[in-house]
Amino acid sequence: MAKAHILRKGETLASVAEQLLGDRRLAAALADYNGLAGVKDVVPGQSIALPPRPRAAKARATLPAGARAAVAPWPPAPSGMAAIIATFGDIRAYARDDGTADPKWEQRFMARAALPFAIPLDWDTSKSASGIRCHRLIVPLVEAVFAEIVRSGLQKSVKTYGGGYTWRMKRGQAKPSTHSWGIAIDLNARTNAMGSAGDMDPALVALFERHGFTWGGRWSGANKDPMHFQYCSGY
Ligand SMILES: [Zn+2]
Repeated sequence: MAKAHILRKGETLASVAEQLLGDRRLAAALADYNGLAGVKDVVPGQSIALPPRPRAAKARATLPAGARAAVAPWPPAPSGMAAIIATFGDIRAYARDDGTADPKWEQRFMARAALPFAIPLDWDTSKSASGIRCHRLIVPLVEAVFAEIVRSGLQKSVKTYGGGYTWRMKRGQAKPSTHSWGIAIDLNARTNAMGSAGDMDPALVALFERHGFTWGGRWSGANKDPMHFQYCSGY
């Protein structure tokens, strides 16, 4: 189970690696795991995602399916804004008048889910993403979803990555996008523009939906957003 540690004043990635992973030489690996530029790219209050312990992951895999669901290390998908706030944080407290986010929002709540395969970036397919920046509480869920994408042979249906956490309003509206909470992922944006039917693989849609995600391709009219998957409903 992936865990997070909130960096206290005076702590460094080396001290966290020593305390929690048992070896301060793992600091650079920890920086990489969190998508940071380097071991010094941290501030007090920042949430540092810790890699899962292999033994715990193995124990979980041997549980029957029902028991596994009961101990899922992520919250159930909330429905409606009040529930999203209660589950993933009160975004309104971090919204600045100029439209930007208080950096504490990202430091406290965002972390990196590692991907089992690199996905070319929508905006520059010569580069690719090896992780997804998202809410720290759904890091193990996002990792489970992509592991299942590989197991199900659906890797080829994931063509490009369009973004996870981004601080922004819903398109054309004054309320925050679910991307602002780090609970939305855009895939294959080049052929799945907003308002279009798109060409998302139904098997990929079904896989996300089985894990509690809502697919934007089910919305109607101009709101239809086939590139978009979000871990909540009623919003
Ligand atoms: Zn989206």
